[in-house]
Amino acid sequence: MSLELPFDNSYARLPDRFYTRLSPTPVAKPGLMALNRGLADRLGLDAEALASEAGLAALAGNELPGGADPLAQVYAGHQFGGWSPRLGDGRAILLGEVVAPDGKRFDIQLKGSGPTPYSRMGDGRAWVGPVLREYIVSEAMAALNVPTTRALAAVTTGEPVHREEPLPGAVLTRVAASHIRVGTFQYFYSQNDHKALCDLVAHVIARHDPEAETALDVLQGVVERQARLIPKWMGVGFIHGVMNTDNMTISGETIDYGPCAFMDGYHPMRVFSSIDAQGRYAFSRQPDVALWNLTQLAQSLMPLIDDVEGAQGAIDRFPELFRAAWLSVFRAKLGLLTEVDGDAELIQGLLQIMAKGEADFTNTFRALGDDTARDQVMDREAFDAWHDLWTARLAKEEATPETRAEVLNRTSPALIPRTHRIEEAIVAAVSGDLGKFQRLNDALSTPFAAPGDFADLARPPTPEEAVPQTFCGT
Ligand code: AMP
Ligand code: MG
Repeated sequence: MSLELPFDNSYARLPDRFYTRLSPTPVAKPGLMALNRGLADRLGLDAEALASEAGLAALAGNELPGGADPLAQVYAGHQFGGWSPRLGDGRAILLGEVVAPDGKRFDIQLKGSGPTPYSRMGDGRAWVGPVLREYIVSEAMAALNVPTTRALAAVTTGEPVHREEPLPGAVLTRVAASHIRVGTFQYFYSQNDHKALCDLVAHVIARHDPEAETALDVLQGVVERQARLIPKWMGVGFIHGVMNTDNMTISGETIDYGPCAFMDGYHPMRVFSSIDAQGRYAFSRQPDVALWNLTQLAQSLMPLIDDVEGAQGAIDRFPELFRAAWLSVFRAKLGLLTEVDGDAELIQGLLQIMAKGEADFTNTFRALGDDTARDQVMDREAFDAWHDLWTARLAKEEATPETRAEVLNRTSPALIPRTHRIEEAIVAAVSGDLGKFQRLNDALSTPFAAPGDFADLARPPTPEEAVPQTFCGT
């Protein structure tokens, strides 16, 4: 018996030119690496059924679950600033959408499920490394309260994937509020397809902006969501690494965990991606890139917006929305519950001290909670001077030290998915041991708790352990 899922496929009801209908390519021998039971429950899916043989066949793309309407979505995008007129799901297939018990709608997508008309030179496959990396990092982001796509399952295919060497193949089941990107709008704009742009706006309103009425409202909604998202990344030291317009969602969720990384040592210009030679997507450039991408979205929506000044105004609001959200994230990280002029300078003051000597981003902020941050930084004198300013500022707060410690520990995690730990878990998984992967996921499901038995995962890498670069990992 094949798996039944309660699908209701609104994207598949859009006109044909939004996608290509096709099924996943079956694989030799599916094996379950991970099933996210908590997420299954949240979606109203039966975890036991997903873990069954029929479930495994569905998660590997070998059997279509009942109610699925599989398709590959088309989109375009600017990659590192260069225009690609047609990208699309080259290694992913949308099975369909489910409506969770709370009424929220989610895409269920297989990633690594075989070639599509958008694969270009690619094989449509993924190997175990990037599948597990996306699983770990996207689930960690969710636990860190950062809007993100989620990972429902990871399965092995029993087939090799050929990169520089043969590697074990895998398929990730990705869950997202939708997979609509800035690049989806760009595609139809570049095709002069006015009707499709109208349909897409109506679809986005239904899914993400029920209060919106016009294309301008949709633009404003995306601007607001991205202005809230990027500060959340920055608050946990996250570098996306490949903020191309096809990797920026309309929903405001983080998507596409390719060459991303959480910083260990802080530096505002930190870059990990091996292909980002210019540092276009460096840590502190992320808000500027977001604005650049949103400007592309605005341009793509212009055929539907008469109010040119309104569109310009929506874009112009981004810096101030970003700044307000950034302040709110970092104020909380200093234990500040009120707003006072000069808070931005106080925050920057600490970041500058951290940048000198590249203090560990996560551990320095976490150490503010028990007032041991001085041990984390190199320039102790500068830190002491900053600490006096911080103490004076805290005196203006009514919160008790207990409340403050609670706020600090709730906003600055003890644990993040450190790149060297992810790599270690992947190496073990490839040799058949999923223990490290499972332990890392376990630990990262409560990143704000005292690490306890997971203290080793809070330790920054030694120079020998450090992984200086991440790869696009396709
Ligand atoms: P990304 O940089 O991961 O956002 O991918 C950019 C484009 O390349 C998207 O259209 C992907 O679907 C496509 N792509 C990436 N890897 C593969 C692959 N192994 N096979 C086919 N298409 C791929
Ligand atoms: Mg992508």
